[in-house]
Amino acid sequence: MNQEQYDSMNIVIAGHVDHGKSTVIGRLLADTGSLPQGKLEQVRKLCEATARRFEYAFLLDALKDEQAQGITIDSARVFFKTEKRRYIIIDAPGHIEFLKNMISGAARAEAALLVVDAQEGLKENSRRHAYLLSMLGLRQVAVVINKMDLCEYRESSFYSLVEEFSPYLRQVGLEVAAYIPVAAVKGENIFARSDSMSWYSGPTVLEMLDQFQAEESLNQKPFRMPVQDVYKFTQSTDDRRIVAGTVSCGRLQAGDELVFLPSGKSSRVKKIECFSAEGSEKSSAEAGEAIGFTLEEQIYVTRGEVACKKSERTAHQGQHLHTSLFWLGRQPLSKDKEYILKLGTMRVAARLVSVDRLMDSSSLEVKGASMSVHRHEVAECKFFVNRPLAFDFTDEIAETSRFVLVDGFEISGGGIIKANGDEAVADTGDSCALRLSAIEESVRAERYRQKPMLLVLAGEEGPVLRELAVAVERHLFDRGHSCFCLDSVSGLGLEETAGALVKAGAIVIVTSEQWQKRSLQWTGAVIPSDQIRTVAISPSFELQADFQVCAGEILDKVQKILEICIAQKLISE
Ligand code: GDP
Repeated sequence: MNQEQYDSMNIVIAGHVDHGKSTVIGRLLADTGSLPQGKLEQVRKLCEATARRFEYAFLLDALKDEQAQGITIDSARVFFKTEKRRYIIIDAPGHIEFLKNMISGAARAEAALLVVDAQEGLKENSRRHAYLLSMLGLRQVAVVINKMDLCEYRESSFYSLVEEFSPYLRQVGLEVAAYIPVAAVKGENIFARSDSMSWYSGPTVLEMLDQFQAEESLNQKPFRMPVQDVYKFTQSTDDRRIVAGTVSCGRLQAGDELVFLPSGKSSRVKKIECFSAEGSEKSSAEAGEAIGFTLEEQIYVTRGEVACKKSERTAHQGQHLHTSLFWLGRQPLSKDKEYILKLGTMRVAARLVSVDRLMDSSSLEVKGASMSVHRHEVAECKFFVNRPLAFDFTDEIAETSRFVLVDGFEISGGGIIKANGDEAVADTGDSCALRLSAIEESVRAERYRQKPMLLVLAGEEGPVLRELAVAVERHLFDRGHSCFCLDSVSGLGLEETAGALVKAGAIVIVTSEQWQKRSLQWTGAVIPSDQIRTVAISPSFELQADFQVCAGEILDKVQKILEICIAQKLISE
């Protein structure tokens, strides 16, 4: 297994439709002698019989057909060999497949070829694919400028495309190892060097691929294994539980002390078990291996957790995610909807909190402030997820930082995690209480005879407003409600504190000044907007508020607020 891994590399071939991806692949297969015996002849004959011109692209289709019917033995992927190693081509016909394969698929690309038609020039997808490659952390990329025969192998045509493309690639942070002029149809500069382009002295496509480094470094990274499943042995004499998953990176050995995040449970690895050969034992496992292991203590871990080693840097965990994403959904990404965020083996419900930067993926034109992200836009966004998630940042461990977003049943976007909002807001650990609670909000609401909420008193700041806030709290409390009048507390995030209290079932009262100092959008995630009520205390706030209580003295206002809350069934009579 290890030997095989070291000698293989996953590559992806991207580019605009018809620019020649399948032809490049067909050529790579044919020129390296990697096609199944007789395949080339078979496809040629089929073309003759159907009076079609032979295309190298058909080879790929023919192989795919066989795979679909389960004929080819190594049916999972198309591959070809050089003297140096075996290349596995990750099929990525469109953006969505590309994202899916890169993020949720078993095989992740270590290098990429970006194919551009020399005659047609750059297309939106040439740029978008480049953006995706960069966003997903691919560091080994070559641009293949194809169909050079159609522009008479002119050096100037090649260089003008290079000049046109390179500023974009630099801007998205993609370092290109080489620009290679080829004519895939004729196999020029794919395997064999082209006589028609003697002005080119760089590597051919295959030379370039062989120069790329296999990602052995994955084994050097801290250990991560998203838990796929936990199998319990049913025989009464066997109380083993096997924790199963695929190692994303790092190495594991029997005896290693693991911590599972986000639960924080830990135990030592007793034995690493191998699934393929029944009963066999391994002493260690590496990146890419599907393994199972037993633990010394019987701790309860579940699918979605990430196993890390205690002796190494462990994954981050949190519910506020700062991300970069690429949106492909037909419906825009919006704050009004709940999405499923899939990262590793974890699925959590996610809400968009804010769109901080928005760009067109093709032109890289920065767009103004927005509440949503449309198809083919890329954005820096904040999300709030309903359960803590374990993850890494993309510049640390790309494998466990990539996620996809599912809208309904469709993967509609994907991205990477760049920072942990939880670490930025609260280092107090107070949100643990939110995470461990097993009491549902509705049960609390019934107990306290109230709808847990945030009551924002919006008026001109000053002692009167504060006095009113305290009075509202007192009256609610005297009526038997659970409530808390919150002032800015140094060291504590106001939103998080308010969020925790609302989760605990309380009515939290704040004044507008404290509130407006913070970002209201952020709050929308901690406290759902239907649990926030804003009361205008002075006329200048009327427009933004749910209710107006502008007239009268303090006690009149308190009375009015209570009446409104009763009428709106926010508190019981
Ligand atoms: P894909 O959609 O990117 O997979 O593109 P294909 O590989 O199917 O190629 C699209 C068309 O371009 C086919 O008709 C190919 O024969 C043609 N083509 C591909 N490479 C070359 C080339 O180097 N020169 C010329 N003249 N045509 C090419």
